[in-house]
Amino acid sequence: MEIKRLEGLGEKELERWEGRTKALCRCPDCATYNECIAQSKDLLFCYLGKSRNCEIVARTCDCPVCAVTEELGLKYSFYCRLGSEKLMH
Ligand code: SF4
Ligand code: SF4
Repeated sequence: MEIKRLEGLGEKELERWEGRTKALCRCPDCATYNECIAQSKDLLFCYLGKSRNCEIVARTCDCPVCAVTEELGLKYSFYCRLGSEKLMH
């Protein structure tokens, strides 16, 4: 599925997709995912956008090896700092 196809989903479907996809998000295992982000429990930055409350120092990014990158055909990384894939198009 490409990210644009998500726009065709209804509200409930999108909620389900978000829940399922957050479970696949590899951010918590990434060196850039600091304590502040962990406390805010933010995930899925590639879709939901960058971290709003935390200062982030870029270390590594696991997005390229995340299943969601393949599912959505993502092209970038470091979404926690840079914002969602949609913004970068
Ligand atoms: S691509 Fe990155 S931000 Fe998106 S779900 Fe995977 S690890 Fe999380
Ligand atoms: S978006 Fe990339 S850099 Fe940021 S926490 Fe997730 S895997 Fe790490």
